[in-house]
Amino acid sequence: MNRKLLISFFCFLVVALLALSACAPVSPPPAPSTATPAHWTYEGAEGPASWAKLDTSYAACGAGKSQSPIDIANPTMQDLSNIVFHYQPSEVKILNNGHTVQVNYDPGSYIEIDGQRYDLVQFHYHAPSEHTLNGKSFPAELHLVHKSASGNLAVIGILLEEGAQNAAYQPLLANLPAEKSPEKDAGLKINALDLLPAVQTTFRYSGSLTTPPCTEGVNWNVMLTPVQLSAAQIAAFAKIFEGNNRPIQPLNARTLIEDSTP
Ligand SMILES: [Zn+2]
Repeated sequence: MNRKLLISFFCFLVVALLALSACAPVSPPPAPSTATPAHWTYEGAEGPASWAKLDTSYAACGAGKSQSPIDIANPTMQDLSNIVFHYQPSEVKILNNGHTVQVNYDPGSYIEIDGQRYDLVQFHYHAPSEHTLNGKSFPAELHLVHKSASGNLAVIGILLEEGAQNAAYQPLLANLPAEKSPEKDAGLKINALDLLPAVQTTFRYSGSLTTPPCTEGVNWNVMLTPVQLSAAQIAAFAKIFEGNNRPIQPLNARTLIEDSTP
């Protein structure tokens, strides 16, 4: 083979290889990780009306028939057994997850509803309230989230209204992380019992998480009696999150019960 032929053969080889690689099928992009569900917000293109479309795991947000929150109106009166609170003070860990400020509670505190134990896991807030009372919205709402050994959720909702200053809420309000941040030991002790209203009768219904994935089967207990915070205390909540409330959902075939006896 002479030198000229060798060069042209080499060139042919390079061109052929390039052509081959150009025609090779494009490898598919990596499948989205199921470990990281879709981002969502409270307004705009990723807001509540679109949650169901953002991720297949959020389907219940659109198709669910037992969603939360609801407007609390025309309840059925019934003499229910009282919720028994077994709360202890806890060193709390506080985080801002970009949707709310969440306070993680030490294990060992729990409630009993009709003999079923649910352990207090965390509490967080929404401003304004998610539940409304006969169409009336409140400045904020606290959610105490509990889980049973079998994984069932029970949430205590507390409507917060403007009134007297509330000393029990002050340590929490003084330690709200303004920016999205991981869990931090806040260096303070809170007794969740102090956050409850004096009278602990509730409205009860079967609902859902109020954030994606909107999972149903949540045992909802909204306190009849609101808790008062001063205007400045409410402003402290709203300064960090205002508008992190999902719109109210239709009651559909569900029964809303009001405990008729304290
Ligand atoms: Zn909540």
